[in-house]
Amino acid sequence: MIVVMKPNCSEAAIEHVLRFLEQEGFTGHLSRGVERTVIGVIGSVNVQNPPGKGMITPALGEALEAFPEVEGVFRVSKPYKLASREFHPDDTVVEVPVACVAGGTVHIGGPAVVMMAGPCTVENEKQLMTTAEAVRKAGAVILRGGAFKPSTSPYGFRGLGEEGLKLLAKASREFGMAVVTEVMTPADVPLVCEYADILQIGTRNMQNYMLLDEVGRVQKPVLLKRGMAATIEEWLLAAEYILSQGNRAVILCERGIRTFEKSTRNTMDLSAIPLVKQLSHLPIVADPSQGTGRRDLVAPMTLAAVAAGCDGLLIEVHPNPEVALKDGAQSLTTEQFAELMPRAEAVAQAIGRSFVTA
Ligand code: PEP
Ligand code: MN
Repeated sequence: MIVVMKPNCSEAAIEHVLRFLEQEGFTGHLSRGVERTVIGVIGSVNVQNPPGKGMITPALGEALEAFPEVEGVFRVSKPYKLASREFHPDDTVVEVPVACVAGGTVHIGGPAVVMMAGPCTVENEKQLMTTAEAVRKAGAVILRGGAFKPSTSPYGFRGLGEEGLKLLAKASREFGMAVVTEVMTPADVPLVCEYADILQIGTRNMQNYMLLDEVGRVQKPVLLKRGMAATIEEWLLAAEYILSQGNRAVILCERGIRTFEKSTRNTMDLSAIPLVKQLSHLPIVADPSQGTGRRDLVAPMTLAAVAAGCDGLLIEVHPNPEVALKDGAQSLTTEQFAELMPRAEAVAQAIGRSFVTA
């Protein structure tokens, strides 16, 4: 249920509603828009609630409607509430501190598209530094790279762990880039938070609810990949887990889904980009590397994703993809990445957007 306050209502009126909700066993989630303040009221099925508390009822709606500065009370029809456009009509803009840009902050979900690039996996210092230098020079402002890698086979490379995080931090200092890297378990969240600017939740963990709860309790942006077999509704419900714990800085990432098609690694669902923009206020980025699994398809799908309205891209780049320990077949060379950047910028300009470069 959402409570829409009258335009320019007083802080005291908002407080009054919040206190009433608290007495009734709810937490009010505030969303301050340009025009109005909206309060999200989430019911919860919780055995600890006293009888009659924590349940959304018509009587609760009527009681809230009687508050003088409440304009209206509406049921949110979708199962996800805080992630929905109804709750938060304005776009959410996630701020990431990035030393190399003017002003020191990158806005994901604003008018400019943001490029995140780097190797699939941190392999060694030379590989990471060479890649970071090249992608920064070409215009990327956020460095990607896995230190904790989910591997389909237990015999595959599973990353350098903390050593990989240290290398990412070193590259970040050297080139002024922010770092996005995956966290796989709740226990690793504090460690990864020490080194990363954005926590990545991988496709295999989109429904790891303990992990979602844990990243929801920290104050770091979270990049939430779409589960490889997840519907858009399931994906937004996964975002809801993070939001409902208090972390509002969620960035969605379309990375392709499983279909019957075998000629690409995944089927990149580009229609998810404009659809998610309708359903949710959260920014969405595209990962054409996992999305296709093929280097020759990464550039065209990057351009298509920008045209479809993505707020950013996550692209795998390797100085020598032939010898990459992971995902070499879908990694661009540093030269291919440099060629792609101006083309992606041209598409952004064609739809009235720009690119954050520095
Ligand atoms: C990755 O970004 O390298 C990765 C493992 O992604 P996903 O979780 O989408 O497979
Ligand atoms: Mn990868």
